[in-house]
Formats: sequence, structure tokens, C-alpha cells
Amino acid sequence: ILEVRDLHKSFGDLKVLKGINLTVEKGETIVIIGPSGGGKSTFLRCINHLEDYQKGEIIFLGKKVDKSENINELRTKIGMVFQHFNLFPHMSVLDNLILAPTKVLKMDKEKAIKKAKKLLERVGLLEKINYYPDNLSGGQKQRVAIARALMMDPVLMLFDEPTSALDPELVGEVLEVMKDLAKSGMTMIVVTHEIGFAREVADRIIFMDQGVIAEDGTPEEIFKNPKKQRTKEFLRHIL
Ligand code: ATP
Ligand code: MG
Repeated sequence: ILEVRDLHKSFGDLKVLKGINLTVEKGETIVIIGPSGGGKSTFLRCINHLEDYQKGEIIFLGKKVDKSENINELRTKIGMVFQHFNLFPHMSVLDNLILAPTKVLKMDKEKAIKKAKKLLERVGLLEKINYYPDNLSGGQKQRVAIARALMMDPVLMLFDEPTSALDPELVGEVLEVMKDLAKSGMTMIVVTHEIGFAREVADRIIFMDQGVIAEDGTPEEIFKNPKKQRTKEFLRHIL
């Protein structure tokens, strides 16, 4: 459902992505690991066109992702969850969830509320439906952010270090929700250094370093038998 060919992206003189190639099939979970500044976030942001790029192409559901395409339509099909839960603070959990579907998809409000309840139940937060984000823990906020993304029935979910801003005891509940999502058949690209999650859930691990995919393989191949010295060094730091 996603094909990236020879993607290049720079900020001014700084070359951040230097020829990324990646194919993602429906239902796959891809985990991206790699050192800080290697271009992981920039890559995810190019996929849903939060960033433009200079060379190469991104094909999503058979259509080229670029300025000429309908970006809003693209974004309804790609859900994104960031490191810092970007919930609207002045809105209840329920209103956070139903905003985009009612405004963008013109979903009937009753229907949106029903769906919101179902998704909140799925992430274990139905009892917080009338809370405001400030009164939730970080882990709960992140689970709400995931439920909110799912309201649009995305075809692809992008996660950019969804647990790295959380207290350690809250990481597990968010990873649990992501695991369920992966097992339900969602197609996901996840930037994370949670190696347990990567081992258990990823179909493929991508090691991204200095703007290129330095190594790509199954969790078994990458964690047990990394081929490149750079991968070995990086894993030594995080394992
Ligand atoms: P981290 O693990 O720290 O999140 P990353 O792999 O996600 O790192 P990116 O955030 O993609 O890395 O950044 C790659 C490079 O691009 C960095 O050198 C960063 O400073 C630069 N960069 C990112 N966004 C911008 C921007 N909007 N303008 C200029 N430079 C940027
Ligand atoms: Mg990043």
C-alpha cells in the first residue's frame, strides 16, 4: 500500500534523507530504529506530506504523494501519533475524538459518538470520556491520541516515538494498545527504541542512519545477526 522510491529531502544545505527505498504491504508492521538526527521523523513526515521532498517519489494507495495531490484526503487515510500527545486541551476526550470525523468526513454526530465509545473501550478508557486531557496521565493521553487517529479508519498508522516522553511505568499500556492494533491487521510504521515491542510485533526492522536505510531485516536478523558495524554499535547502546 506504500512505496517509497529514492526519496531525497534536504533542509537548506542539510541533506537529511539521501535515497530511501521502502515498500510496505497491507498488514505489515515496520519498526524504524536509528540514532538521533538520522532522519526518522522527517521520513514519517514526508509520508503524510507534513514535509515536501526534493527528489524521488512516494506512492500511497496507487497515488503519488506530492503537492498536487489532495493532501487532506491523504491525511484522513494516514493516522499519526507523535511523541507529545497533541490533544486539544480545551476539549473533552469525546470532543477530541469526534472533531475530525464530524468536520472532515461529515459523519453524523450520533454515529461519531457511538464510534468514539467503541474505540475508547478498545483502548480501555471509556470511563474517561468526559475528562479533559490535563486530567489524564501521559499514558492515557497517548491512548486517547491513538483512539482519535482510529476514528478516521486510517489505512496506515505512523507512530513517532509514541512512548519516549512517558514515565517508564506508563509505557507498557501504550505498547499493549499498539500490539493489539498490529495484531488486528493494521498497517503500521513505528519509530521506537522499545526493543521488546520491536521483537514481538515487527515484521521488519529498519535501521536508519545518516539519511539512508543502513540495514533492513526481520527482528531475528537485525537483533541477533546485524551485518553492519554501525548497526552493531547502535544496538550495543540501546540493548
Ligand atoms: P531523533 O531520534 O532525535 O528524533 P530523527 O532521526 O527523528 O532524530 P529528524 O528529526 O528527522 O531525525 O532530523 C534529521 C535532521 O534534520 C536533523 O539534523 C535535524 O536537525 C534536521 N531537521 C529536522 N527538521 C528540520 C527543520 N524543520 N528545519 C531544519 N532542519 C531540520
Ligand atoms: Mg525523531
